Amino acid sequence: CGVVGVAGVGDAQKEILGMLTNLEYRGYDSSGMAVLSNGRLHVVKRQGALSELKKELLKPTSQLHGSAGIGHTRWATHGAPSDINAHPHLSSDGKIAIVHNGIVENYKALKDQLIDEGYLFKSETDSEVIANLAAKLYQDCGAGSYRQVLARLQSRLVGAYAVVIQFADAPDLIGGIRNECPLNYIQKDGQSAISSDLSSLVPYGKDVFCLKDKQCVILDSDGVAVFDEMGTDSEAIPITINWSV
Ligand code: GLU
Repeated sequence: CGVVGVAGVGDAQKEILGMLTNLEYRGYDSSGMAVLSNGRLHVVKRQGALSELKKELLKPTSQLHGSAGIGHTRWATHGAPSDINAHPHLSSDGKIAIVHNGIVENYKALKDQLIDEGYLFKSETDSEVIANLAAKLYQDCGAGSYRQVLARLQSRLVGAYAVVIQFADAPDLIGGIRNECPLNYIQKDGQSAISSDLSSLVPYGKDVFCLKDKQCVILDSDGVAVFDEMGTDSEAIPITINWSV
């Protein structure tokens, strides 16, 4: 299973498919992606092999056109493998898309609170709470508060996770948070890429960074910001990849 994201690229659908293909060796039961296009997050996801997703994306009505997006291969822990339980998950207001590896241990309590506040859920996954919680935090913190949303997500989630997040109102911005699951990124020549797996970053350059537990990252056209759950600037671990795929 794996999470990936790209921004500032020519064709996000193509890049994400390439990255997911590099992750196939890890095993998965479903795959999917979201791409931002004209201010809307468009999602295509399918149970089964990556070839099912590719088949769907060949249909002219399903094709995704945009320069930023996120992708996922799923190994189900909460909710059976199905199209609906596949990632990405959108917040019920459609403004945020997330992909998640791992388990949100406190998802039930969070889900109950969010349902009380009017957020709607479509899947049986633990992961969907991340999308709706992020939407609630974004609502609370105000437009453009991407950094606060990521920091607060870190402080509210319990469990093991690598999450990649995209906001409908932020073209070419990709965010990530990690705890006890790997998450790595690179930004080079105006292109940003983030992945749970180093091998899928190889096409984007050699000098990558590994997030530490409880760190957050925002990659956008201003550069890279790494910070902790208090919102304080922090440093990821630089590594150089000396192999090719
Ligand atoms: N717990 C999540 C789910 O069941 C994520 C699984 C994964 O790591 O792929 O959807």
